[in-house]
Amino acid sequence: MKTSVLENNSGLREAVWKVAETAGYLWEKGWAERNGGNITVNVTELIDDGLRALGAISEPRPIGTILPHLRGCWFFCKGTQKRMRDLARDPMSNGSLIRITDDCEHYEIVADKPVMPTSELPSHLSVHDYLLAKGSPYRASLHTHPIELVALSHCRKYLEKDAATRMLWSMIPETKAFCPRGLGIVPYMLPGSVELANATIRAIDDDYDVVMWEKHGVFAVDTDIMSAFDQVDVLNKSAQIYIAGKNMGFEPEGMSDAQMQEISDVFGLPK
Ligand SMILES: [Zn+2]
Repeated sequence: MKTSVLENNSGLREAVWKVAETAGYLWEKGWAERNGGNITVNVTELIDDGLRALGAISEPRPIGTILPHLRGCWFFCKGTQKRMRDLARDPMSNGSLIRITDDCEHYEIVADKPVMPTSELPSHLSVHDYLLAKGSPYRASLHTHPIELVALSHCRKYLEKDAATRMLWSMIPETKAFCPRGLGIVPYMLPGSVELANATIRAIDDDYDVVMWEKHGVFAVDTDIMSAFDQVDVLNKSAQIYIAGKNMGFEPEGMSDAQMQEISDVFGLPK
C-alpha cells in the first residue's frame, strides 16, 4: 500500500486533519449537501525539503489566470465533485496537495492521489493571491451553504450594506466579539465566475472576513480553517436566534446600539 505524504510531516498532517474535522462539521450542520462547498488552505509554511523534492503526479494544469504572489506556494484543496462528508474521514482521497509552478499560472498535483482540485480553485487561489499581496496572516478560505444565513439573503432588506450585520450582531453579544468585521454582501452572480471572484476580493478588501453570496452561500477567510468556520458558525447562530424569535410570533428586539458599542469598547474590536 502506498504511504501518505502526511506520515512524515506532523505539521501538514495536523493541518489536513483540521480541514477534515471542519468538513465533518459542515456536513453535520447540513451546510454541505452533495459536493457543495469548498476549502482551500495555504500550507506553504509547512512544506519541508522532503516534500519539495517530490515529483508531480499530474501534468501542470492552467489555473486560468496569473497569480504572481503564489509562485512556489502549496495548497491543500478539496477535490472536484468530492463530498465534505467523505473528506471528513479520508482527506487525501477527497482532496489533494498541489503546488503552483514558477510561471504563476499553472498548478501540479503532488500528493497523495491525482484528485483534481475543486472547479472553484481559480477564485479561491485569486483570494489567496490577494491575501499574500496584502501581507495578511490569513491562510484558509471556506465556501459553504449555511442554511439560515442563505435564507436571510432572500430578503431585500438584509442585502443593504451592513443591515444583516447589525441585526446578527444584535442577537447575542458573542457574535460581534467573534465576527467583528460582520457580513459583507455580494449581489447574486454566476457561481464560479471571474466576476464573483473579483467581487468577493473587493468585499474582503472592504474589511470583511465573511462574505455572503446572495441566494447561494458564504465565503470566509481566516488564519486557519477552523477559525474561518467559527466566524460563519457564530453568524449563523445569530440568524437561527432571529428565526426562533420570529417563529415565537414576534420581531426580536435585538441589543441596543449602546450595548453593542460597549462590546466593541470592552473587547477592543476593529471598526
Ligand atoms: Zn456553493
